[in-house]
Amino acid sequence: MAKHTLPELPYSYDALEPQIDAKTMELHHSKHHQGYVNGLNNAEAKLAEARESGDFGLVRHWERELAFNGAGHFNHVLFWENMCPAAQSGAPEGALLDQINADFGSVEKMKAQFGAASKKVEGSGWGMLVWDTIGHRLVTVAVENHQKNFPITAMPILVLDVWEHAYYLNYQNARGSYVDNFWNIVNWKNVASNLELAKKANR
Ligand code: MN
Repeated sequence: MAKHTLPELPYSYDALEPQIDAKTMELHHSKHHQGYVNGLNNAEAKLAEARESGDFGLVRHWERELAFNGAGHFNHVLFWENMCPAAQSGAPEGALLDQINADFGSVEKMKAQFGAASKKVEGSGWGMLVWDTIGHRLVTVAVENHQKNFPITAMPILVLDVWEHAYYLNYQNARGSYVDNFWNIVNWKNVASNLELAKKANR
């Protein structure tokens, strides 16, 4: 089975300054994200060993490791792609704008709900805008760790890491400012293409 690998960022470590500083980006990508990739590979290897030996005594432990690290890897891939230098950010357009207006009333109301959910995550987690593949609507989610409280019907299209490692060097305890500044570096073209993809998973 092929190992998972850390993808290159689609921009340089300093490309998101001043919203996110280069040192935070470097540590976040090369150390934290790499750690989840390693953890995912390890969990898969341990489960393969269990299948080989027939000893599933630790299956619950490795399935948990798989869920945590697998979501950690996936969320970070999405997060890097969801951002871009402020000059290229733009605004929601077309089908994405229509969907946001239909489900939240306005872009500002969506941002207010997403921002509040992100700021209120207890401890480490993520704010997410997700497509509900069975209700056919956009909703926001406050995810704990990388995967808890995540609705099984959801396809994430915009995610914000609110673990302290994502902002503490520059923002210290001011998670709220970090969340507010995030809107300046959202890659709305990427979010629009994620929505298009997510709708293909409709039931
Ligand atoms: Mn992170």
